[in-house]
Amino acid sequence: MKIRDVRASLVEIPYPRPFVPSWAPEGAHPTMAAVVVEVETDAGVTGVAGGDMGHGSGPLLLAAIRDVVRPLLVGQDVFATEHIANRLRYVAQYFFPRPWVVGVAVWDAVGKACGRPLYQLWGGAASELRAYASFGEVRDPAQRVDDALAAVAAGFRGIKLRVHSSTVDEDLRQVAAVREAVGPDVMIAVDANQAAARWRYAPDGSRLIWSYERALTTARELAALDVAWLEEPLPRHDYRAQRALTAAAPVPIAGGEHNRGIAELVRLLEDDCFDIYQPDANESEEIHALRQFGAMVAARHRRFIPHAWATGLGVAGNLQLCASLVDCEWLEYPYDPPVIVPEVFQVMLTEPLLPDPVSGAVRLPTAPGLGVALDRAAIDRLTVQRV
Ligand SMILES: [Mg+2]
Repeated sequence: MKIRDVRASLVEIPYPRPFVPSWAPEGAHPTMAAVVVEVETDAGVTGVAGGDMGHGSGPLLLAAIRDVVRPLLVGQDVFATEHIANRLRYVAQYFFPRPWVVGVAVWDAVGKACGRPLYQLWGGAASELRAYASFGEVRDPAQRVDDALAAVAAGFRGIKLRVHSSTVDEDLRQVAAVREAVGPDVMIAVDANQAAARWRYAPDGSRLIWSYERALTTARELAALDVAWLEEPLPRHDYRAQRALTAAAPVPIAGGEHNRGIAELVRLLEDDCFDIYQPDANESEEIHALRQFGAMVAARHRRFIPHAWATGLGVAGNLQLCASLVDCEWLEYPYDPPVIVPEVFQVMLTEPLLPDPVSGAVRLPTAPGLGVALDRAAIDRLTVQRV
């Protein structure tokens, strides 16, 4: 079954109001941008996947798919996934854009050809996965209490808060208020986004930078609030400091969502940088290689909970990855009403992935591949560029 074409579209999903991601101090985003990739085969099967490539990087990825990925993959056997992964690594190393979403589309085609969801092809048995509500904005503690209670009422058993205030006390005030409101049984994770946000500037030229001391102080204070993990408290390549922090902190330290490729992930693991590793199927490394990395993480008695902030199509790829692992505890589920809601970020799916209103778990689709059906009219309407 040969690959006949590789196509890509840049879509922009309008938000109901401008969204101010905690990790992007430069300003509000009017849309969620994503690249949708289609891998067409000569057997009538087409694999589709979508990654959130952010604003600005989408056109770069489209150009790389048109000029580099397509010539490398057309004519290849779609089942030769290891060799396809190597070709994608070549693209990532020499041409910069993260091409991993192409690998997910290749696997979607494989799953469709085999008539099985990917997680089943890969040996997984979970029929559902607990989802945690991943908030994206920084809001004042009183608002976040209301938001957290609404998320719990919607079924979520876990929440992730963003800590980007100017002082540790302000960060802790938000977490403490939410903990008091939701009680002891709801998982609370905390994300500082310092792996990248520290390189991004507000319009006045300022930026928020955590020192090692601030990271450790925050981690110590969060332990008293029973926080499940502190995510990205330090720069992503500061292996030495991350290792020291993970050893010293009384709460689990998480990270790795945008480290590039298997070599960096293995380095993080060998250096014992985290308690929880979070590579993303669309943005970090080829999805099947991440399954292999998951086995390495388990062998080191560490945990693997992928990053999945993306459109519904991007979440669908990470859901298959999560469900294929033996012990993945949570699915990251973008959720920050009134902006990040299923009707918005899953607009490209005819049947959105929804958390159960009681258990907060997302059921695995039963259809083959990624298992999701696309709303072609919506994708056409939202497409701003295609190759
Ligand atoms: Mg994160």
